[in-house]
Amino acid sequence: MNKLQIMKIARNTGRSLLTEIESKELMKLAGINVNDTKLAASGEEAISISRQIGFPVVLKIASPDVVHKSDAGGVKLNLKTSKQVGKAYDDIMQAITAKYPQAIIQGISVQKMARPGVEIIIGISTDAQFGPVLMFGLGGIFVEIMKDVSFRIVPLTRYDAAEMIREIKGYPLFEGYRGQEPVNLSILEEWLINISDFVEKNPELQEIDLNPVFAYKDGALAVDARVILRANP
Ligand code: ADP
Ligand code: MG
Repeated sequence: MNKLQIMKIARNTGRSLLTEIESKELMKLAGINVNDTKLAASGEEAISISRQIGFPVVLKIASPDVVHKSDAGGVKLNLKTSKQVGKAYDDIMQAITAKYPQAIIQGISVQKMARPGVEIIIGISTDAQFGPVLMFGLGGIFVEIMKDVSFRIVPLTRYDAAEMIREIKGYPLFEGYRGQEPVNLSILEEWLINISDFVEKNPELQEIDLNPVFAYKDGALAVDARVILRANP
């Protein structure tokens, strides 16, 4: 899928929220490393994809009407056998149809369970006055409870990117904490610049949410992505 095709899908369906798979395809074009994510239309297909990519896997609801997948019972992690995958497929479908009877469901996405890293979030929001604004922070409870994030107005310089990573309170986590490996910060700086450039070139993008990104010693991987397009770019 290329960028034009994705934009077209959204236009034709009148959607502004892209699904995880569509959002990841778009983020790939921006130079972001996303994990391979495939759509399954049945439990059997989810099992055969899982066998191809290798266990353990993660299943997630694929619906443009479900914004927060795990809140709705739409995410099942660390599935180790075909049997677990089959059951997770049915459980997700049941939970989502109970909670969102009207939702359009494309299927269920299948991806490899990623190895743990330092969880971060990277986001774009559009401010009425300043236009696109980039956010960077630690993921999980750090963003929800501590609000430990930094902001810069797009476009970013390399200096902005370096600075916004270093000014969050949780920065010491990136340097290696209690035996955890340190994180490759130059890759993260590159990502921030790539996203800033991509957003600058594509004014139809209203919001981007990469949450979480796993940051490692040797790279980074976005395992969830959500893109919202502007109604009238
Ligand atoms: P949502 O944000 O819509 O609730 P996510 O795709 O972010 O759904 O999944 C919820 C949580 O599950 C993530 O915050 C992350 O901790 C975990 N997770 C999601 N995908 C993976 C994956 N491929 N590997 C490991 N953990 C994952
Ligand atoms: Mg998420």
